[in-house]
Amino acid sequence: MDNDIVPELLENIKKDFNKNMRKSSRLKAISELIKNGNASYSDANEYAIEIGELLAKSFNRFLTVDTLPDGRMYYNIAERILNDTLNTNHALVSAATSEIQGKLNVKAGFQIKGIAPKLNQDRIDGLIERVSNEEVFEEIKWILKEPIVNFTQSIVDDSIKENAEFHSQSGLSPKIIRTVDGANACSWCKEVAGVFKYPDVPEDVYRRHDRCRCTVEYDPSDSKRQNVWTKEWR
Ligand SMILES: [Zn+2]
Repeated sequence: MDNDIVPELLENIKKDFNKNMRKSSRLKAISELIKNGNASYSDANEYAIEIGELLAKSFNRFLTVDTLPDGRMYYNIAERILNDTLNTNHALVSAATSEIQGKLNVKAGFQIKGIAPKLNQDRIDGLIERVSNEEVFEEIKWILKEPIVNFTQSIVDDSIKENAEFHSQSGLSPKIIRTVDGANACSWCKEVAGVFKYPDVPEDVYRRHDRCRCTVEYDPSDSKRQNVWTKEWR
């Protein structure tokens, strides 16, 4: 049995995902905001949710008990499919956040680029482990849904974290605002919501559980300390 099914599966998933991305009015609207310099991090979060949901949808369509050998997502299948597609999600979302952050920086008077968050390979490896450890695909199918959205959102949260920490080290006092999504907020989310200023920003501000639709905002215009930045950067 040297019939490798991965190339075809991957091609089908990517084609479907790309087609749905092009059709998405949500992505189109946010891309327009980004282009015009009017996007915030909550728009980036929306963007990531949409991309995560579209990938989950393509997984759901093409990864089934019938398409997988022995109805199982073996390690070498999971590894190639998740690395490829989640790298793409990282590239798409980090391109968006870098542009958003860069424009926020310029608006705040800093002529510096947004930092693109590093790829969190550990999280991808964790997902690969979880889906390939289970023999019964039906039992782990859910991991290819909401955790994929959660991973994609985390790229936005990582972008805020990396940029705000860099600004903090450069002498600014970044202010992070985390807001619950009214109807669905759990007690953990209510607990971690609020306005936080560096250096007193709890790590949990950048964490979220599955289905968490809280927004995290960072706008360097809020955190300008008179003259400090320009001195630092000259
Ligand atoms: Zn939440």
